[in-house]
Amino acid sequence: MSDRYCVIGNPIAHSKSPQIHAAFAAATGQDLRYERCLAPLDGFAATVRELVAQGYRGANVTVPFKLEAFRLATRLSERARAAGAVNTLKFDGDGIYGDNTDGPGLVADIVRNAGVPLAGKRILLLGAGGAARGAMLPLLEQGPRQLVVANRTLATAEALVGEFGQYAGRLAVSGFAALEGGFDVAINATSASLSSELPPLPPAIFGPGCLALDMMYGNKPTVYMEFAARHGASVRDGLGMLVEQAAEAFALWRGVRPDTNEVLTSMRRST
Ligand code: NDP
Repeated sequence: MSDRYCVIGNPIAHSKSPQIHAAFAAATGQDLRYERCLAPLDGFAATVRELVAQGYRGANVTVPFKLEAFRLATRLSERARAAGAVNTLKFDGDGIYGDNTDGPGLVADIVRNAGVPLAGKRILLLGAGGAARGAMLPLLEQGPRQLVVANRTLATAEALVGEFGQYAGRLAVSGFAALEGGFDVAINATSASLSSELPPLPPAIFGPGCLALDMMYGNKPTVYMEFAARHGASVRDGLGMLVEQAAEAFALWRGVRPDTNEVLTSMRRST
């Protein structure tokens, strides 16, 4: 019987993960099944236990369960510990291993797919929620000149940055309107785009040649992408990040790294 995996969330019907993992499995010749799993809002841990009992080998975790997955895991990767959130679970004989592939997926999409190296760059990270948390360590490991975290609630950004004391010299915190100077890369990790809202950002944040990436994806550019494009930035949505985080999870589960180019191209055609 094929090895079984799933993505757990609530809601989950919109998830593109089954399509992505089916394409990876076909391309790498891996025998697996990957489906959507709707967990009750108060039933994440019970759902995971049931999956383990049924012999599932792993799961991705999405909104709103990433923090619960972090607490449930019996072992954690360093990047999951730094993120304080888990989006990938691996069920093996030793319990439940928790990893976070969102940040590495973001970095892979920027560096490999968009061809923008991050070493020595000035980076802006908008937001201090789960997605921003996951991005911190992978971004810092690229050796940027500076990483500025801007958030609506300043205290949340301050607390997040405070967790990365060993990088203190390269980190700063700001409110949106108080942002100064231009950035090489400006990442929107707020959920404002979900409601077509734009944080009050000074247009000067988009420095010459700036790449503006919105973690959200859909069938049209987000308000943030439109704003950034109007002010001279090149823009990118979160679909590449989604495909890359899936590839990281697939590699963790199967020990084989799928090629993401073809999958990303075909998904762009179908969105
Ligand atoms: P969270 O709910 O954890 O965090 C939300 C963040 O957005 C907080 O920093 C919050 O600020 C801020 N925010 C919310 N509304 C507004 C607003 N109207 N104006 C300004 N800031 C606002 O969400 P996540 O971090 O999980 O998700 C963030 C985004 O990233 C979503 O769009 C999600 O779809 C996307 N994402 C994409 C992935 C991909 O693979 N492409 C993977 C993971 C996430 P405050 O602290 O003040 O409340």
